[in-house]
Amino acid sequence: MGEAVFPPMQSPQAEQGAKKERVLIIEDETALAEALAYNLRREGYEVIHALNGKTGLALAFAEPPDVLLLDLMLPGMNGTEVLRELRANEKTQHLPVIILSAKSEETDQVVGFSLGADDYVTKPFSVKVLLERIKALQRRKSQPNEPATPDSTILERGPIRIDQVRHRAFLENKEMDLTPTEFRLLLCMLSQPGRAFTRRQLMEASIGDGAIVLERTIDVHIKTLRRKLEDDALVETVRGVGYRLKE
Ligand code: CA
Repeated sequence: MGEAVFPPMQSPQAEQGAKKERVLIIEDETALAEALAYNLRREGYEVIHALNGKTGLALAFAEPPDVLLLDLMLPGMNGTEVLRELRANEKTQHLPVIILSAKSEETDQVVGFSLGADDYVTKPFSVKVLLERIKALQRRKSQPNEPATPDSTILERGPIRIDQVRHRAFLENKEMDLTPTEFRLLLCMLSQPGRAFTRRQLMEASIGDGAIVLERTIDVHIKTLRRKLEDDALVETVRGVGYRLKE
């Protein structure tokens, strides 16, 4: 009986012959980046690492990764500047970004989310938690590509229209520039206008149930979504519960 000697160990991803998902880490703490890279490779990811914002940005533009892990405090160009540049470029505007930062102040989270970060982990964090977040982001990213029945591809309520197949949202026929999280949040509420959703339900729909996030994270995403909807009244706050889309 022949014994397979190569490859010795394969992740489930590799067994299916799927293309490896690429993760770009922009982080100046070498030890942390190496530990992350080691764990991600073990899970079957291809990992590239940049020590500063400028190099990381060049790598992201050259070949956008599937997920970007972005440190905020970087030498030279900081993480928020990197994120702003990424969102301003057509190639990387929808790139899933998880911010890694020692900063735990809520204001920093607000800045990160308002610039279009999809998730945020505060150092020190466990690799397991980060891996769950990455997987949750990928699940969300893959969902819009699932086959949809013809009459469920376009959702339209009032001034908002969502094309689920093309993963595009429009406000008064003008395309909205939404992060993947904001898109799923809007899609969730738009699917049942007038229904009050709890923060927990909105988190599960938009961030994924594998994510361990504070419930106020949803408030931050709602805040940026309301700004992009140009009408605060479209998303109503349901006191003591969560949010609903105006009927
Ligand atoms: Ca740093």
